[in-house]
Amino acid sequence: MSFLLENRVFDPRSPTLEETLYHNSNGYIGVRASFEEDYTSSSTPGTYLNAFHDSYPVSHPERLHGFSEIGERILNIADLRSVRIRLDGQSIRLADSEIKYYRRFLNMREGFSNRDVIWVTKSGKQLEVRIRSIASLSRPEIFALEYHLIVQRSMVIEIESGILESMRVSSDSKDPRAPLTPFHALKIVNSKSENGVITMISRTRNTGISLAIGLEQNLKIDGVSLAPGTFTRSKRNAYMAWKTRIDRGAVICLEKVFFFSDSIRHPHCEKRLQLLSKEFAGSSFETLRKEQESQLAEFWKIADIRIEGDETSQLGLRFNTFNLYQCAPRVTNAGIPAKGLSGEGYEGHYFWDVEIYMLPFFVYTQPWMAKNLLLFRYFTLNHARSNARKLGHSRGAAYPWRTITGRECSSHYPTGSAQYHINADIAYAIWRYWEASGDVDFIVRYGAEILFETARIWLEIGNLADDCFHINTVTGPDEYTCLVNDNYYTNIMARKNLEIAAEIYMLMERNYQTALKKLEDSIGLEEDEIFGWKQAAESMALPYDKKMDINPQDESFLRKSKWKPKKSVRNRPLLLDYHPLTLSRFQICKQADTVLAYVLLDTDKNDSTVRNSYEYYERITTHDSSLSKTAFSILASRLGDSEKAYRYFRELVVVDLENTHGNTGDGIHTANMGGSWLAAVWGFGGFMPKGPLPSFSPRLPNKWRSMTFSIVYRDSLIEVRADRGNVSLSLRRGEPCKVEIYGKILLLKDELRCPVPPREKSH
Ligand code: BGC
Repeated sequence: MSFLLENRVFDPRSPTLEETLYHNSNGYIGVRASFEEDYTSSSTPGTYLNAFHDSYPVSHPERLHGFSEIGERILNIADLRSVRIRLDGQSIRLADSEIKYYRRFLNMREGFSNRDVIWVTKSGKQLEVRIRSIASLSRPEIFALEYHLIVQRSMVIEIESGILESMRVSSDSKDPRAPLTPFHALKIVNSKSENGVITMISRTRNTGISLAIGLEQNLKIDGVSLAPGTFTRSKRNAYMAWKTRIDRGAVICLEKVFFFSDSIRHPHCEKRLQLLSKEFAGSSFETLRKEQESQLAEFWKIADIRIEGDETSQLGLRFNTFNLYQCAPRVTNAGIPAKGLSGEGYEGHYFWDVEIYMLPFFVYTQPWMAKNLLLFRYFTLNHARSNARKLGHSRGAAYPWRTITGRECSSHYPTGSAQYHINADIAYAIWRYWEASGDVDFIVRYGAEILFETARIWLEIGNLADDCFHINTVTGPDEYTCLVNDNYYTNIMARKNLEIAAEIYMLMERNYQTALKKLEDSIGLEEDEIFGWKQAAESMALPYDKKMDINPQDESFLRKSKWKPKKSVRNRPLLLDYHPLTLSRFQICKQADTVLAYVLLDTDKNDSTVRNSYEYYERITTHDSSLSKTAFSILASRLGDSEKAYRYFRELVVVDLENTHGNTGDGIHTANMGGSWLAAVWGFGGFMPKGPLPSFSPRLPNKWRSMTFSIVYRDSLIEVRADRGNVSLSLRRGEPCKVEIYGKILLLKDELRCPVPPREKSH
């Protein structure tokens, strides 16, 4: 089954979609797949380094106390791909040529992108081009490109290749999710060429972060290297130029290897470049490709989900998991931006998307990456504390809704800072990581501090009244309903946050007194706070409507009218056509909210309240956020409706491949990608972590003949294969362990097999 995403049709109208889909990333570097040749103005070349950003003042004409003052945005640092070619003095441009053959693919097994084109220029010259590019997963500071060209006649060829400024940002001023208009945020301090190596040093204007790019180029004609070309630099570009006569059928190969370093990670970034180049000496594009292939072989052994009977889902899942892996940080000070490193949508910000939608994939397949992501939250805890002070809280930490460095960058607080659930989402992720890994060292050194500081906030924004603990003036995940009291999702997740914090406190009190004492002193934690956490958790208000037997999304939700749109402009998210206040006055949901809470905190599938609520929210949810359908798919699976679950799944697994939200050109939807893994494994695979026990109850949709996936749980690697009649579990690594299958606890030694039990009667 294929690991290739492939396109054989050249469509000159909208290059941005392919630029996103075929981009290369390794979690530090992301390079869009723009054409190397001069192309069209709608193309968006882009290179991004995770967290490499500049800041800008946020202007609020009516600035009130505590509003965010500084915004942060990832920078499009350069166009690295550009290879400009002139044949007999004539520039070649794809747009003016006749395309005879076109094939582009992303090889997900080996981790590189490829483009083959045969084209005939205006003046009748036929060219064959093959370009391969790679963002090295094992050497995250390297991106490389290989450009092969064969020309059918003898002629004079001129090649210019180097580092060009990249400023063409596609932006839609009416869409708040689109990139902002471009600006020159990078100041080039120096560019030079020594021994044929180009070095460019630049600095951001406001944050003063330095960037060093090194470029080694090797131009060969029929296997023979040419001397370095003539170095040219202008205010914003630095490149080499070669001019030579070539014979008929000559093979020209240009290899470009880029090294990156920035002062966020290395104060002396130029020195770091020298080291990288030294380490790379004697290697080539082919070295990187081989390293990539072997790293990915290890990855796929664990992360691949194999599906028989459904090519589209298979490709979608592979594409999504591959992208999660390629955009996960392999350097410090970084999370996963909402668009990965494939575009500038959402300005390169990290959201709760990471902890709730992406982290499960890493926790259960690549636990070290999950830990890295959680550590990023630990290292930004001080920012979260200052955010809390700005919001008026004397204790605790409030994690930001969107950020790069950790500071809150949202300028619209009702849909931004008011989403206090981010605190609970992070606590939830820590809990899941701990539960699956048993990494007590992480908990004691890092996790506990986050858990305590996040737990404290609930006591700041909630209070006891009528024997219940109420959390006031918050926004849940559904951003069409803002600033409410007792949002069901927030409250139930906050309850978990408080419970885990108290549990970890007690664990440390028993076994890690010294570490606990140190932590208590450093954050000023008093013992009676723990009593407050327990009390708040025990009496947490969870809205319930007896008549309808559902959990209302918040305390006032059911009093609102149902949404009756005046004029339906479907296929466009409502947020583009209605004022947030209008949306907030109706029962209309942008995305899963209460339904997501059920999914995360495994509510009993026979509970009539869950079923009724599901049906209720299904009618009033627009799924305007790509995060939404995951929860609806998983819960449909748990409620026994695999066909409905599949309909949701089929839509969410192709969000980027089929550009169903119309904005993949601005970047991939990483939360949705994590969501598709969740919908497959938690939904159809029926996987649920239950303390020390991994639990499975697979139920496949009719279209699937079988599904195979693997889970890492407490050092065991368990492979699950399910078809329509049977399930087998194989222990691929680790000690024999207990597992739950369809509710029965069994010991997994080598392999366990059991039939899929008949479905329980639906209620
Ligand atoms: C969603 C948020 C999400 C953000 C970034 C928004 O459309 O409503 O929940 O965090 O996109 O993906």
